[in-house]
Amino acid sequence: MPNFREFFLHKPLILLRPIEIETSAKEFISTYASYMESIGIVGKGPSGHALYPSRAAPVTEEHTQLFEDLVSLSSTLDIHTVASMDFYTDAWFAKDPKYHTIAPRGESMPHQICPNRNEFWEYGAELVGELGSYPIDEILLFGAGFIRDHFCFCDRCRNEFAPLINQEPSRLTYEYITESEENHAKWHDWRAAKVNEALKHLQEAARDVDVKVERETPLRLSVEVLLDPETGFSEGARGQYGYDYKSILEITGNILINLYPWSPIIPTPGSSEYDELVESLYFTNEFQRRGGMVTLFRWGVSSIEQLLELKALAKDAGIGRVSTTFTYPGDYSTRRESAIGNY
Ligand SMILES: [Zn+2]
Repeated sequence: MPNFREFFLHKPLILLRPIEIETSAKEFISTYASYMESIGIVGKGPSGHALYPSRAAPVTEEHTQLFEDLVSLSSTLDIHTVASMDFYTDAWFAKDPKYHTIAPRGESMPHQICPNRNEFWEYGAELVGELGSYPIDEILLFGAGFIRDHFCFCDRCRNEFAPLINQEPSRLTYEYITESEENHAKWHDWRAAKVNEALKHLQEAARDVDVKVERETPLRLSVEVLLDPETGFSEGARGQYGYDYKSILEITGNILINLYPWSPIIPTPGSSEYDELVESLYFTNEFQRRGGMVTLFRWGVSSIEQLLELKALAKDAGIGRVSTTFTYPGDYSTRRESAIGNY
């Protein structure tokens, strides 16, 4: 395990899995509270199992006590308290084939939900309500977009999108869509609208639970957006994953930039790749200027060197906060393959 004290001293928001805590919540908090500004704990990971006593999602019972104790202790000490929630990346829910997102040639993705499922948005809203009833300040919402530009070709998406470009649903192909710039742009807009609509549901649930628990400062929903050279940095990500940064600013006001999720190494300062990366983060200036909050996030930051590298980049890009996990998600290789492999 990395040296927690050293990490906390650099003030990142560290998102922890319960097994990484290794002691009771009480012992953990009393050891590190004086170094901590914030703390994050997984609420629902990509397995789809909740680590808090959820009524709607399946629960990993052995961790619920730790979750409840940790958020209650840290919020009492005025430490910024955060829980994470995987959204479309939900392997448990995706066991039901009717929710799978589908690749262009019909291959179904058993780890990810089609973002065009309003019944799943309701489920997500329910979970936001459950998490928000705990004394937390923020939810990090992971997996809030499409796998990539090649998704989704499920029956529902075909039936809804094909008529918009005068095609038969059964004859809709990725090639057909991308042959015409106009159709491709419509594809991007249509998908971004789905992503936004779901986010509105979740934001509404957050507001409702704020009223219910009389939270003083509104619960913050930080939406993960993936940014990788493999998927064209921030501009490419707009089309690939269905993010509309302007709308996200209006809906939740907070983004969590998952930096280089598919590429292991951040370029060295001074290199042209580094300049390109900083340039692709320029949009965050506008986002913050308009009152939004931006967090630079990375999976699997396990050394102080890596943490400092991330902090330096955040500083160069004018981004206020960094956040990390010690490990990659359990389904990482499947996700990477579906995002940048051959489909
Ligand atoms: Zn679909």
